[in-house]
Amino acid sequence: MTKVRVYDGAETIGGNKIYVEENRKGVFLDFGMNFAKYKVYYQEFLFDRSARGIYDHISLELIPRLNIYRKDLIPSDLDISIYPSLNVEAVLLSHAHMDHFGNMGLLDENIPIIASPSTLMLLKAILDTSSAKLGSDVAYFSERLPEGKDDRVLKADRRKESKYIGRNLVCTKSFSEPFEEFILTSVKKRKEIEAGHICTIDDCSTPFEIKAFEVDHSIYGSTAYILEGDSTIAYTGDFRLHGKRAEKSRKFINEAKNASILIIEGTRTSRKDINESEKIVFRNCLEAVEESKGLVIADFSARNFERLETFKEIASKVGRKLIISAKDAYLLKALEKADGVDRTKDILIYKELKAVRYNWEKEYLKKEIGETAYIDPTRISSEPDNYLLCFSL
Ligand SMILES: [Zn+2]
Repeated sequence: MTKVRVYDGAETIGGNKIYVEENRKGVFLDFGMNFAKYKVYYQEFLFDRSARGIYDHISLELIPRLNIYRKDLIPSDLDISIYPSLNVEAVLLSHAHMDHFGNMGLLDENIPIIASPSTLMLLKAILDTSSAKLGSDVAYFSERLPEGKDDRVLKADRRKESKYIGRNLVCTKSFSEPFEEFILTSVKKRKEIEAGHICTIDDCSTPFEIKAFEVDHSIYGSTAYILEGDSTIAYTGDFRLHGKRAEKSRKFINEAKNASILIIEGTRTSRKDINESEKIVFRNCLEAVEESKGLVIADFSARNFERLETFKEIASKVGRKLIISAKDAYLLKALEKADGVDRTKDILIYKELKAVRYNWEKEYLKKEIGETAYIDPTRISSEPDNYLLCFSL
């Protein structure tokens, strides 16, 4: 018999942690961060203390009280063995937004992550370019060790011979050599990554037969799933019908018609007044840019790659050059490892004037993309009509 248990995500936006099980073995559908719960306790400079592992998460019930977490994140004054344990065979990740993957890094390292190659590349690149947060350390992580004097305190393993631990990753479709190479490329503190097992979904055993479907969403690599067992479950993740890949969503909807259980995101299901599409955005923004003199700056949420593509098209239509941040360029390069599409062609990177440059930029991006792709701010101010800047805040 198929059992579904919603540990989180029911009456909130995102934060999904849904467990589906058959014969005492199961999979999680996403393991995201519940922003609303975090907001009750944290804001601005207040956040969970990584030196206390999952102590805060468990105490404040930011994550379900279960015995399914990384052993190295359990400080001496926390006992999670009193909580139920589950036979989690895998986590199916729908896409690389925090409210869907943000607590995944806390899970026992032996639990493999199933996701599209694009999503896995994004998880790696997001981690490479940000400071470590326990929950989003999905692709790889530093093991934490009790601090010598007080073992309630856990600190990242900084011993010389230590390596980052790579998770076991399962791709929803075949992956390329550059994909594998990038998973293994360490850009932090010159510590190597010890790769986990990487395979495709056909080689991964779970209680269900899993079919993955690409769907339309603002971030690339978004996937919906159909799980076949005693019952057939369709799980949507976030999806929409107004983007460039709407047809993909429709294909999934057609397949999902045969499912007996539908688990669907309901964020905007009650709104009837929606008339939006990326085409309308394109038309309106093109008009605005055409009428503009001087510099144009477009702002939209981070990692909205489709919007970035929209502005790339607008830039080329009006004869301006698109300029993006180094971080976004790094993410686009990561996506290229998954699908081979060169998205940085004809794009310039803003040369930020800063004292410290991180390895992901210095050692990797600059080599991949070349110094000539960088543009100096002085150059932009001397001929502002030639450029369109996209800096996600
Ligand atoms: Zn999303």
